[in-house]
Amino acid sequence: MALHQVRPRILGFISEDVSAWLVASLVLLAGTCLTGVLSWAMMNLINQQLRQRFELQAEERFSRTEERFQDEEQRLDGLRRFFANSAGVSNAEFHGYVEPLLRRTLAFAWAPRISREQRQSFEQATREQGDDSFGIRETGDGGGLRQAAERDEYVPVLYLQSQPLSMSPLGFDLLSHPLRRAALEQARSLGTVVVSQPLDLMGVGPDFARGVLLVAPVTRASAKEPFGYVVAGLNMRQLVGDGLPAAGHDNLSMRVLDLSTDDREEVLFDSLDAPGDSDLSATRLLRLADRSYRVELRPSRMFLSSNHSSVTSLAVLGSLLSLLLSALLYVLVSQRQRALKLVEQRTGELRAREQELRGTHGQLRGVLDAATQVAIIATDLRGVITTFNAGAEQMLGYQGCEVLQSMTLESLHVPRELQARAAQLGARFGKPIPTCHAMLLEGGEQGGQQAREWTLVRRDGSHLTVNMLATPMLDDQGLWVGHLAICIDITERKRVHEALAARDLLLKKLSAHVPGGIYQFKMDFNGRFSVIYASDGIRDIYELEPDVLVQNAEAIFSRIHPLDSTRVRASIRASADTLSPWREEYRVQLPLRGLRWVRGEATPEELPGGGVLWHGYISDISDLKRVEEELRALSVTDALTGIRNRRYFQERLTSEMSRVERGSGGLAVIMLDIDHFKRINDQHGHAVGDRVLQAVCQRIVQRLRRTDVFCRLGGEEFVVLCPDTDSDSAYSLALGLWEGLRAAPIEDVGVVTASFGIATWRAGEGADALLLRADSGVYAAKQAGRDRVETQLG
Ligand code: GH3
Ligand code: MG
Ligand code: MG
Repeated sequence: MALHQVRPRILGFISEDVSAWLVASLVLLAGTCLTGVLSWAMMNLINQQLRQRFELQAEERFSRTEERFQDEEQRLDGLRRFFANSAGVSNAEFHGYVEPLLRRTLAFAWAPRISREQRQSFEQATREQGDDSFGIRETGDGGGLRQAAERDEYVPVLYLQSQPLSMSPLGFDLLSHPLRRAALEQARSLGTVVVSQPLDLMGVGPDFARGVLLVAPVTRASAKEPFGYVVAGLNMRQLVGDGLPAAGHDNLSMRVLDLSTDDREEVLFDSLDAPGDSDLSATRLLRLADRSYRVELRPSRMFLSSNHSSVTSLAVLGSLLSLLLSALLYVLVSQRQRALKLVEQRTGELRAREQELRGTHGQLRGVLDAATQVAIIATDLRGVITTFNAGAEQMLGYQGCEVLQSMTLESLHVPRELQARAAQLGARFGKPIPTCHAMLLEGGEQGGQQAREWTLVRRDGSHLTVNMLATPMLDDQGLWVGHLAICIDITERKRVHEALAARDLLLKKLSAHVPGGIYQFKMDFNGRFSVIYASDGIRDIYELEPDVLVQNAEAIFSRIHPLDSTRVRASIRASADTLSPWREEYRVQLPLRGLRWVRGEATPEELPGGGVLWHGYISDISDLKRVEEELRALSVTDALTGIRNRRYFQERLTSEMSRVERGSGGLAVIMLDIDHFKRINDQHGHAVGDRVLQAVCQRIVQRLRRTDVFCRLGGEEFVVLCPDTDSDSAYSLALGLWEGLRAAPIEDVGVVTASFGIATWRAGEGADALLLRADSGVYAAKQAGRDRVETQLG
C-alpha cells in the first residue's frame, strides 16, 4: 500500500488542532512503553528457556557423574570378588584382570594382610618371585619409602596396575598412613567398599596427586575377617573430567567437593570453564561408596554467550521503530497542518480575489456606462454584437436590447466605405477580404493598431463620423473570442480642426504681410527653450527655416552675435522671472546678409505646469539703427568745426573719470582759448571768424594723437582730453599744439595764437576741479600776455 493511501487513514484519527510535537511525543512514549513491555516478556521467556536448558544439561551431567561413581564402585567390587573367589591370584592374573579396567582410574592394587610373624616369609617369598628389592615399607621423613617399622599387622601393596608413576608404592604398608589406615579399618568394619578422605596419592604427578582411595575388603566365604584389600586410586579430574568438552567449550562449570572433613570442604574437581554471570545453579549430593560428594553445576560463559538473549536488540529495534514512527507522524501531521493552513490561506485569497473581481466587474460595467462620450461595442467571433454601452446607445440612437445578439458591427457601417476598404486591403494582401472584416483588419500601416475614421449609420439613418479602434479580444488562454470596437464621435473635433486650419491660414496670410516675424517661444520649468510657432517672416530675420526653429530653438542663438548672446539670454530669463515684457535689440550675424540689427518684443505668460510662454514679434531695425547712429553722431559733433562738441566732451570726461577713479591709468586736460578773437570778428567779419575757427581746429587736429579727444567747448574755447597722459607728456603736447598754431598763419587773417592751460588728474580729484584747474591755466596764460602754455599746478 502506497504511503499516500496510508496517510489519510492515519491522519483520520488525529485531530487537526493537535500539535505535531504532541503527537510525535505521545507516539514515542507509547512506542517506548510497548518496547519495554515486550522486552520484559521476551526476557522472561528467554530466561525460562535458559533455565530449562541448563537444568536438562545439569541433569545429564549429574547422571553421568553418578554413573561413573557407580561404575568405579562396581569395578572394584568385581576385583574384590575375583580375589575372594580365587584360591590364589598371581601377579599376571591380577594384571590380566585389571588392565582393561584402567581407564578413568589411576591405579588398582592388591594389598594382603600380613601379620608380624608372616612378614619375613612374605617378603622372602615375594623377593623369590622376582622382585629382589621387595620389602614392607612406610613413608619416611623426606617423603621417600623406608623399611617399615615392626607392627602387629601390615597391609603392603603387593600387586599394582597403574598409569605411569614416578615412584612405585609396591611394598608400601597402607596401615602406616593414618588416612589409608582409617579407610582400611572402615572397610573391614563395614565389610563393603569404602572411600578414603582426600589424600595425596603416591608417585602421581602434582596435577593428579590429590585423590581418594576406594577400598574393598576381600573376605573368603568362610572367614569373618578379610585377608586383604583391593584398592583403586581415584582422581576426580580424571574420573569426572574425562570425556568432557575441551576447555572453553563446556556449557557447564562443574565442581566436586568433598564433605568428609567437618571444618572445610575440599574441592576435588573444578572444571576449567569458569562460571558465567548468572544466578542459575544446580547442586546434588552424589554417593561414592560410603561417602557423599557435593557436585555443583553452574552455566559456563560459553553457555550464556551461546544462549545470549536478543532482548537488547529488541529494545534498540523497538526504540528505533518508535522514533521512526514518531518522526513519520510528526512529518505527516505537520505536513497536513501546513497543507490545511495553505488551503485556508488560498481560500481566503480566492475569496478576496472573487470579491475584487466582483468589484472590478461592477466598476467595469460602471465605466462602460459612464463613458457616455465613447461608444464601446464588443462582438463575438461572427461579428454579432455582445456589448453595447450607454455611449453607443447615445451616439447611434439604438437601445442595447435592439442590438445585442441580433445586429453585427458591419451593419452599423456605411457599406460603400467598407467595400472600398475591403478592396484596398484585398489589393494589399493579394486575396479577397470580406467586408465584415474590413473594419477589423490592420492594413499593415505604420504604427500598428491605430484608430481609423469611419462613417457609422445612426438608427434614424443619419451619418456620424467616428474614430474607431478595433482590437481582438483574447480570453485567459490567449484564444481569440471576439472584437472590441471603441468609437469616439469626431464630428465636433473635425469641425474644430477645420476652424483651426482656417485660423492658421489667416495667421499665415497676416504674418506674411507683417515686416519681421511673429513667434511663440517657450521656456520649460527646467529652463529649456523651444519655439512653438514661427511665422515665415522669421526666415528673413535669422535666415533659418521656421521648421528648423520649431525643432531646435538653440539654432537662434547660433545666429546672435557673440557679444550680444549672453545679454539676450539674460534678458529672457529676467523676463521669465518677473513676467515683465521682453524687449531687446541685438545683432545677428547672418550667412547671406551679414551683420544686422534686430529688435525683439514679447509678452510672457506663465504656464500652468511651470515654465513661461512668450508671444512676440521680431523685426529688422538695421536701417533704424543706422539713422540713430547718424543722429547720435550729429548730436555730439560741432556743426561749424566738425569736431566733438561739449556734450560729447562731458560724456567722455565722465567715463574717463570713472576709469581713472578705478585706478587704471592717468588723465590730462589741455584747454585753449583763441587770443583776441573778438578783434578778428570785428576786423574781418563773423564769417572770417568762423573760417578762423575751422582753420585753428585743422591745425590742432593734425598734431593730436589717436587717443586724444578734441572738443569745442563753445565760442573759441577748445579742450583736448588726453587719456593715460602724465603732466610732462601733456605739457609737451600742448607746446606742440601752441607752436603748430602760431607757426601756420591763417589766410587773410595772419597768425592766430591761443592761450593754453594744462591740468593733470590728481587722485581724489573730481571732474569739475580738474576742469577748473585747466581753465585757471588758460586764465593765467591770458594774464601773462597770452600766446603761451601755462601749467596749472595748484
Ligand atoms: P581774449 O584774448 O581775452 O580771449 O579776447 P577775446 O576777444 O577772444 O575775448 P572773448 O573770449 O570774450 O570774445 C570771444 C568772442 O568770440 C565773442 C564772440 O562774438 C565771438 N564768437 C563767439 N562765437 C563765435 C562764432 O561762432 N563765430 C564768430 N565769428 N565769432 C564768435
Ligand atoms: Mg578769446
Ligand atoms: Mg573766450
